[in-house]
Amino acid sequence: MPELPEVETVRAGLAPVMENEVIAEAKVNRPDLRWPFPERMAERLTGARVLRLRRRSKYILADLDTGETLLIHLGMSGRMLVSGDPLGRFVHDHPAPEKHDHVVFEMASGARVTFNDPRRFGAMDLMLTATAEAHPLLAAIGPEPLGNEFSESHLIAALKGRSMPIKTALLDQKIVAGLGNIYVCEALFRAGILPSRRVNRISEKRIAALVPIIRQVLTDAIAAGGSSLKDFRQADGELGYFQHSFDVYGREGQPCRGEGCANEVHRIVISGRSSFYCPSCQR
Ligand SMILES: [Zn+2]
Repeated sequence: MPELPEVETVRAGLAPVMENEVIAEAKVNRPDLRWPFPERMAERLTGARVLRLRRRSKYILADLDTGETLLIHLGMSGRMLVSGDPLGRFVHDHPAPEKHDHVVFEMASGARVTFNDPRRFGAMDLMLTATAEAHPLLAAIGPEPLGNEFSESHLIAALKGRSMPIKTALLDQKIVAGLGNIYVCEALFRAGILPSRRVNRISEKRIAALVPIIRQVLTDAIAAGGSSLKDFRQADGELGYFQHSFDVYGREGQPCRGEGCANEVHRIVISGRSSFYCPSCQR
């Protein structure tokens, strides 16, 4: 499931193709994904110019010159494919349509953006730009981890008195937006905190130290995604799923990468999710 860095990579890859460009034709090939599409979605998008592509948590938001904003959620398996860039950065033509190409944007520039989602957990919606933050999917989301609102004092206050495992707390989108299983595991490893450690058994100093570490883990992953964007145009035009090396995630039984550590990465299940950690480096 894409997390914040993957969604940010998709946004960055779509920006040069969609920002300041007109959607000459929007094709909507089915009535719904996870939820029904908004009424007359194709008509409301066709002819609109995309003013800005931004991201909130794991949602991509396209502000349109019609006064509406298109919300895109990739869900579990959603992919954005770009083809036919007229600026010569793509060598391939448009690929043949595939079974799960649910929404297609034919840009006036000649580029094509395709949303393909075999499992259909993704979503698209349209809302007024002026009240976009009040959308039900966005209203309850906590601060962006890379924004100024996500501060040491915010995290200390948000976790005060909680007794759940720190792993569970950091997955709570009301406490911090956009973090998922992978980057929480990585951040806790860098912070030297056990994922199962209960929040009220962690000092404020160690909680505060998590803030810059979470930012750095995400920034590193976004940088890796950015470098993958340089290569994707030679591949199949798919955005967002880049090769990235993790310290602990998915490395059960492999040597710990902690300095001077002879232990190996362990796995436990917390709140139904696999957590990867080193019992020597994390406490
Ligand atoms: Zn270790």
